Amino acid sequence: MTHAPVRDVVIVGGGTAGWMTAAYLTAAFGDRINVTLVESADVGTIGVGEATFSDIRHFFEFLGLAERDWMPACNATYKLAVRFEDWREPGHHFYHPFEQLRSVKGFPLTDWWLRYPTSDRFDVDCFVMASLIDGNRSPRYLDNRLLEQDFVEGEAAPNTIAEYQGAQFPYAYHFEAHLLAKYLTKYATQRGVRHVVDNVVDVGLDERGWLSHVQTAEHGRLEGDLFVDCTGFRGLLLNKALEEPFVSYQDTLPNDSAVALQVPMDMDKDPIRPCTTATAQDAGWIWTIPLISRIGTGYVYARDYMDPEEAERTLRAFVGPAAADVPANHIRMRIGRSRRSWVNNCVAIGLSSGFVEPLESTGIFFIHYAIEQLVKYYPAGDWDLTLREQYNNALMNVMDGVREFLVLHYRGAKRADNQYWRDTKTRAIPDALAERLELWESKVPDTGTVYPRYHGLPPYSYNCILLGTGGIPVRPSPALDLIDEKAALAEFQAIKDKARSLVRTLPTQNAYFKRMRDG
Ligand code: FAD
Repeated sequence: MTHAPVRDVVIVGGGTAGWMTAAYLTAAFGDRINVTLVESADVGTIGVGEATFSDIRHFFEFLGLAERDWMPACNATYKLAVRFEDWREPGHHFYHPFEQLRSVKGFPLTDWWLRYPTSDRFDVDCFVMASLIDGNRSPRYLDNRLLEQDFVEGEAAPNTIAEYQGAQFPYAYHFEAHLLAKYLTKYATQRGVRHVVDNVVDVGLDERGWLSHVQTAEHGRLEGDLFVDCTGFRGLLLNKALEEPFVSYQDTLPNDSAVALQVPMDMDKDPIRPCTTATAQDAGWIWTIPLISRIGTGYVYARDYMDPEEAERTLRAFVGPAAADVPANHIRMRIGRSRRSWVNNCVAIGLSSGFVEPLESTGIFFIHYAIEQLVKYYPAGDWDLTLREQYNNALMNVMDGVREFLVLHYRGAKRADNQYWRDTKTRAIPDALAERLELWESKVPDTGTVYPRYHGLPPYSYNCILLGTGGIPVRPSPALDLIDEKAALAEFQAIKDKARSLVRTLPTQNAYFKRMRDG
């Protein structure tokens, strides 16, 4: 037993999770650790054109990468929100934007809006972003300045993880995940990560049941102290070799399949919408993710309600002739989390650790969060159990919290026009969400959120989904009847004025990315 840090790390898997982990560990620890990444040339990666969550900017900043460096290489665009279509009723839409909800006299602006609705669009009235998205705007000016907002920006790059706490950015990205993995391969290998392309055919355990090595087909044994399982839904090290059980979320989130298409687009002609769109369908929902070269789209559905052929037909009809010659990619999803993500000397990151359907784009967020926690709780040779427990609790809480938030989308959706949507109203929900619903119904102010670090307080994400999906009655706090409303009405006007001036002055995404492309 030693207190010296663990130095030899073997990562198995070269998808987004594997390369994000390799790059981040190198940026954090430099040559004080040795990292080997082994990936198969035969087993493909999941990479369907991803939407992210706004914390992802911390990841690129930590690596010291500027947008102009990595965005063009990954066909990346900006994402200001998720746009939900048809969750309430056909033709209705609302945005869940990356923007802190303002408070007036101690009450969230959405509460004031419920008491004094200035239009039928809470998102447009309470957030500047909604108007920017309607106008296809980029959040940056052509000279690369960020929009004039009260966001944290332009300060010196944070040096420690602790300094990131509390920072909130007004946007995230869409990018091609396989291109990001390729970009990070170069980044990590240039900084000393050893890259082995081979199949892992066996996993060696020592007498304690800890991992001692992975056996490859052509490169022999790869030995290490710490093993990171980034083998995707297979969970080759954690679930198979160490037999860590998987806790399914399927009882509360039944969508278990997806079919994806990559639709060609021409940025000289087609507008690039600065948001991910989630359009409700008969047995799930369709994502639309605009990139530079194409639109990533896919139908997330439950096989209990729809078979894959019908899902593909629905998706093709939704997309239209642009995707007529494009092959469909059918994917089976494992929804839930490993009971513990870190067992003995093996940490699972990415799909092997856990996954929920991509409704709020949390897959890459889970990866980034896990890597940060790994650095924070990085072990020494004594393998202090407290570090592992802290890590496992952090991962469990964030994934269970996200599950709760996703279930709210379905329970809250007013739509109940077929068996799939009717069942969303009667299916069991996580206990924590049931408690929240009771609080909301009795109008007790709610200050909890699964993302306190990013979403701040009040928990605007919950408010957006409640108000947008429209199926759960919400009332303003009775106290608002006793408070002068002038300040709230002035805030609504200030948002309107700000939005108008930003839409007038910001470029469209197309103009911004043409400038980035053409220099
Ligand atoms: P994978 O991409 O599956 O990579 C596994 C790696 O393990 C591969 O390199 C493979 O070669 C390697 N491997 C496996 N077996 C072996 C072996 N025996 N030997 C050597 N190597 C091996 N996330 C978001 O944030 N936003 C989204 O919009 C989003 N949309 C999604 C849509 C769908 C339908 C799905 C399924 C996922 C989505 N995700 C999204 C999640 C996201 O795709 C994943 O979190 C991310 O790609 C990480 O995947 P991974 O690296 O864990 O696994």
